Amino acid sequence: MARTPDADLPSLWTHEPHDLLEFRAGTAVADIETASTPGFTGKKKDSGDLQDERNEVFADLQEMLYAGSRAGDTRKILLVLQGMDTAGKGGIVKHVVGAGNPQGIRYSSFGKPTEEELAHDYLWRIRKALPPAGHIGVFDRSHYEDVLAVRVHDLVPPEVWGRRYDEINAFERELVDDGTTIVKCAMFVSLDEQKKRLAKRLRRPDKFWKFNPADIDERELWPKYQEAYQAVLDRTSTEYAPWHVIPCDRKWYSRLAITELLIEALDGLDLAWPPPDFDVKAEKRRLKTA
Ligand code: AMP
Ligand code: MG
Repeated sequence: MARTPDADLPSLWTHEPHDLLEFRAGTAVADIETASTPGFTGKKKDSGDLQDERNEVFADLQEMLYAGSRAGDTRKILLVLQGMDTAGKGGIVKHVVGAGNPQGIRYSSFGKPTEEELAHDYLWRIRKALPPAGHIGVFDRSHYEDVLAVRVHDLVPPEVWGRRYDEINAFERELVDDGTTIVKCAMFVSLDEQKKRLAKRLRRPDKFWKFNPADIDERELWPKYQEAYQAVLDRTSTEYAPWHVIPCDRKWYSRLAITELLIEALDGLDLAWPPPDFDVKAEKRRLKTA
């Protein structure tokens, strides 16, 4: 029998992370407890082995999704990672998504738009990066920058960014109707924890590449970013593409939580290994004499 990955929630969780982390109307960004570990009863020391175990479950399901697409299944998943610098987006890519089979992963990061990108609508570069059938698309930053950085830095007039919330909802509706499961993670780190992480980037030569002097200037805009994140959560958390609020001061927690969100999304697709489109017995016989 083919192996079926065990997508059941491990015992160290009291709830599906989804149930606790999904954005609820009325939640204030300023009140998010960034050092909390909602639903997890274990400690940091428990997280390493559990992460390894769940990475394997994720990897099996992800490969199943990809295998299914070879047999004609057109469904896909889009993981949207949004967060301030140092929130841990790169760590999710490396330690969570990185456990998967790269054949079925489509990674894209979105920085300051190039001249070519600016000459197009803001969703142009986003559309080009969408995951094909059977893939998990990973957005390291996303179209939400166009109502976050753009809003905070006044890069376009308010009436322009103001229209984008509805446009984004319509865009995501289109993706969902096209067979995309969207997993949106808003990753929140405290100002203090960010300072520690930036200090580490300045202390370690192997971290310099992640440091950008502008990150320090962005800290002064924290209240404006909080306001902009609040609007994103209030206006773009829909029933078909809800936001998840991820506390990220403890990296081990945010990684475990997002792994479970991905496993849950994959499990919800009721995947199965595609049956052979050939006669297995006959092929075995043929191989013996080949
Ligand atoms: P990083 O992810 O650390 O490489 O940083 C990328 C930078 O690009 C961040 O400061 C983002 O806020 C910025 N960025 C991403 N998308 C946009 C956009 N559409 N408009 C302006 N800035 C952006
Ligand atoms: Mg950065």
